[in-house]
Amino acid sequence: TTPPGEAGHTGSTAAPAGADALIRLEHVNKHFGEFHALKDIDLAIPRGQVAIVLGPSGSGKSTLCRTINRLETIDDDGGRILIHGEPLPAEGRELARLRAEVGMVFQSFNLFAHKSILENVTLGPIRVKGKPKAEAERHAMELLERVGVAHQATKMPAQLSGGQQQRVAIARALAMEPQALLFDEPTSALDPEMVQEVLDVMVGLAKEGMTMVVVTHEMGFARKAGDRVIFMADGEVLEDTDPESFFTNPRHERAQDFLGKIL
Ligand code: ADP
Ligand code: MG
Repeated sequence: TTPPGEAGHTGSTAAPAGADALIRLEHVNKHFGEFHALKDIDLAIPRGQVAIVLGPSGSGKSTLCRTINRLETIDDDGGRILIHGEPLPAEGRELARLRAEVGMVFQSFNLFAHKSILENVTLGPIRVKGKPKAEAERHAMELLERVGVAHQATKMPAQLSGGQQQRVAIARALAMEPQALLFDEPTSALDPEMVQEVLDVMVGLAKEGMTMVVVTHEMGFARKAGDRVIFMADGEVLEDTDPESFFTNPRHERAQDFLGKIL
């Protein structure tokens, strides 16, 4: 694997902007009524990159993730989101197919409360991808093993700790065999002692070359696993650089202010 930094740097800055980007946003705007939540966002995430999204509360980080996964529509003003070059359609089968290629992990886990851990992981592959049940279960057990909760497979979500539930949520996302994963503050709802076990799984994925967009306030993780920092404020991308530059030499006053508050 590439040391943290290298893959992303060449991908994000040296290559022609987004030439072979896995995720690409072009002139993306998003309004909630009168409120302008995303302002003309242009971003290209190359395959294999770990992009950390930072910014104060309300800056549009979740909205950014949600539009990439089409949980939110974008303004109909010519902006586009493309997954490996294919524009995300508004609805239908093509949307379902492209959406399955970008998994999402939420702050609040969002496991199906009335399904077992194993069923949480097999449901998507069976229903959306049409996998035979036995095969889906075999793959799910491998993934649960990998995130360290295989022994909990028959339990219900409420019987697991927050850290375990979030690891199941990661296994569930991986079960769809996505090309990229979006994480929206995956450790913010966890008790402090459970944060590391989730970050460890994410570091493992990063090392294996998974393309990841990670909204997080975990600066240790950002420095260790991130190839790139995208700093947002008020719906705009104000800085887009490598983690070392961002943390040692933030250029924008808003970024300096933000780092001053969290470090
Ligand atoms: P962040 O994740 O950076 O904290 P969000 O993307 O959640 O920020 O929100 C950005 C802004 O958009 C906030 O001001 C928020 O209140 C607003 N917003 C987000 N979702 C909605 C919504 N569904 N309706 C109206 N306003 C929203
Ligand atoms: Mg948010």
